[in-house]
Amino acid sequence: MNEFIRKPRGTKDILPDEQKYWRAIEKAVEKRCLAFDFGKITTPSFESVQLFDRAIGQTTDIVQKEMFEVKRYGTSEEKREEETLVLRPEGTAGVVRVYLEKGMQVWPQPVKLYYIEPMFRYGRPQKGRYREFWQFGFEIIGDKSSQTDIATLMLIWQIFNDLGLNEKDIIIDINSIGCKICRPQINKSLSDYLIKYQKLLCPVCQERLNLNPLRILDCKEKKCQNIIAGAPQIIDYLCESCKSDFKQVLEGLDELAIPYDLNPRLVRGLDYYTKTTFEIRDLQDKTRQSSLGGGGRYDNLIETYGGPSTPAIGFAAGIERIISKIKEKKIKIPEIQKTEIFVIQLGEKAKKIALKLVYDLGNKGFASSCAMGKNSLKSQLRSADKNGAKLALIIGQREALDKSIIIKDLRDSTQESYSMNKLDEMIYKKLRQK
Ligand SMILES: [Zn+2]
Ligand SMILES: [Zn+2]
Repeated sequence: MNEFIRKPRGTKDILPDEQKYWRAIEKAVEKRCLAFDFGKITTPSFESVQLFDRAIGQTTDIVQKEMFEVKRYGTSEEKREEETLVLRPEGTAGVVRVYLEKGMQVWPQPVKLYYIEPMFRYGRPQKGRYREFWQFGFEIIGDKSSQTDIATLMLIWQIFNDLGLNEKDIIIDINSIGCKICRPQINKSLSDYLIKYQKLLCPVCQERLNLNPLRILDCKEKKCQNIIAGAPQIIDYLCESCKSDFKQVLEGLDELAIPYDLNPRLVRGLDYYTKTTFEIRDLQDKTRQSSLGGGGRYDNLIETYGGPSTPAIGFAAGIERIISKIKEKKIKIPEIQKTEIFVIQLGEKAKKIALKLVYDLGNKGFASSCAMGKNSLKSQLRSADKNGAKLALIIGQREALDKSIIIKDLRDSTQESYSMNKLDEMIYKKLRQK
């Protein structure tokens, strides 16, 4: 085979058998978000590089080395457009751009939006990490109350529960990382401590020490981890208002009996976060190496873009990671229902009747189908099952002759023969009157 007939590194194909997982996640997200009056938003896959520079922060790995640049094919370097475009590495910046560009500040606040989209990061491909990966996420822009933080966590918890992941499998790691007022104090206490170990930190963290010491807490290097273990706790340096808001969030979670783990070292990989910060992780994964999703407040981001000071909170989860968790936990995801009624034919005469029947039932509003190119009863029943059909209509040679039909209810495996002119009545009874 030619070399270009091969998928690029760090990507994946989602084959038909896998789609039920994607559908299940999409359905859970949609159901819960719509109930909470979120609107769905779709933004372009590529944006101006400055959008992410500003939002994510110059000192993060993402901006420094993980973004894909978009170039027009075949253009030479000097002919390129002024603007540098990159494939989006995350969803929040794009949503916030829309909020500002469309003047959503004048909409009733808060504005609640959710998305399900692919993201792109040029990382070393490894298990569960792709260069193109899907996220679902949502943003609540324009509300600062801690009730919104609680509602956000509740919504996330419901979505995961809908997918069969509950307190037996997952937990919310939570922390507060302060606001504009207390952050300088938090940074100072951290750098006062970390400066003593400067030479022992990894090169990246040495650089972070001056620019953003908070991010050092997020370093996964063993030698940094050892130093971090003795660092002062952020929570002790929060201002009064951050402290009381955080207390309310935790009390809200207690009230709802949503399990959480207060993690004083938790910060997020992006610079824009403030105050409540959280991740969803497997109960067994104490090292937080593979969180299923995370988010938090970003009360300063909109101002960073030149907009008015606007509080906001958001969350994003990795769909591939959730799917592998669902598989790992052996959670049963139902097959996608493609067909309600499956018509099975045995013999040439029956075949003709079958196709006409599928057509007529379709016109009456039933999702109906038959197996093309299959002739045995067994293989056709198997197809009916795979398509999630509730009823199988069987036309054998005898039925074709005496204008009758067998209705097999696949839900309880009962079957009975009816005269063809009773068919509609029986189908409505079985499918629509329950
Ligand atoms: Zn504060
Ligand atoms: Zn480090």
